Amino acid sequence: MDTIRKGEPLTVALTRAGLDPEEAAEALRVASALDPRRVRAGTPITAKVSPDSGASEFTLQLAIDRVIRFTRSAQTWVEREELLPWTTDTVVVGGEVQSTLTGAIAAGAQDFPERQRTELAYALADVLEYRVDLSRDLQKGDSVRVLVERQRAPNGLVRPGAIIAARLTISGKPVETLRFAQGTRVSYFDGEGKSMRAAFLRAPLEFRRISSVFGMRRHPILGTLRRHSGMDYAASRGTPVRALGNGRVIFAGWKGGYGKTIEIRHANGMVTRYGHLDAINVRSGSTVNIAQTIGKVGSTGLSTAPHLHFEVLVNGVHRDPRVALRNVAGEPLEAKHRSAFAALKSRIFAQLDAPLGLVADRPVPVRIGGD
Ligand SMILES: [Zn+2]
Repeated sequence: MDTIRKGEPLTVALTRAGLDPEEAAEALRVASALDPRRVRAGTPITAKVSPDSGASEFTLQLAIDRVIRFTRSAQTWVEREELLPWTTDTVVVGGEVQSTLTGAIAAGAQDFPERQRTELAYALADVLEYRVDLSRDLQKGDSVRVLVERQRAPNGLVRPGAIIAARLTISGKPVETLRFAQGTRVSYFDGEGKSMRAAFLRAPLEFRRISSVFGMRRHPILGTLRRHSGMDYAASRGTPVRALGNGRVIFAGWKGGYGKTIEIRHANGMVTRYGHLDAINVRSGSTVNIAQTIGKVGSTGLSTAPHLHFEVLVNGVHRDPRVALRNVAGEPLEAKHRSAFAALKSRIFAQLDAPLGLVADRPVPVRIGGD
């Protein structure tokens, strides 16, 4: 099999594959599924050529799952686009946390290339972002298990599909989630049937944007020299900062050592503070929604490296967000879906507890029984 070289016209590649230049030009005249001038270098190309009658067929593989086939019948060329099916099975991946979530997932996910494992870790963080701050809640010795769809391309390439269920065991306490269809709406619930979405996020930055996966243990400037009552998230300058929950901006401006700072008061009386910002996108008095971008990570005030300084205050006193948000949970399932949920949960959690690797040769349903 040949591939198209860098800067090479398609006709030249086809000539190398055995077609006459005229034949190649004629065939490409019927091309509509591709632009012959814009076929990428590296595109695989095959041709069937007989010494007597010339070329009868050639293919261009534009993507893993997409082939354009040109065949000659009598004197005319016909183009046909072929979409190759991905197949999906279900695997359990997971392991013990040594230093990173990605590392723990890697233990049972040899099939997924490293970049895909990282994507899977990010996807898991997205599912859990109302329950767990994966950048700092995980410790060495915690464990993770994920039941996930595995998609295979015709050429053997593998990528993760949807997360079906997961269990994170943090300091011995499990945080469980599974995917379920409430009617036609598919979303994630915990083991008790409460929505994974809640009134507050657990971190003001997206997990995928945080540079130091385990968070920063020491203040980047002050080190351990000063008692430090907030949390610091290392992230590059310009990273979007999200409101932890719905609320009203009670301060937006410069605040001494905090530099550019935003403070938001939430419905439960809690105040969140975001410091050292590079930019502020909101004004004092305005209302904000959960996850809304309110500013950008910077290094203003008493700081020399870009990071977000984040605090949670309850009645003016600093609180650990894990403690302050401990009882914040999502809405429970509608009563009419509970039996279907219980049926799916027992089946899916049994699969989640299966030995690591392949558990089913097909995708897992999002619902069993009920209407
Ligand atoms: Zn700080």
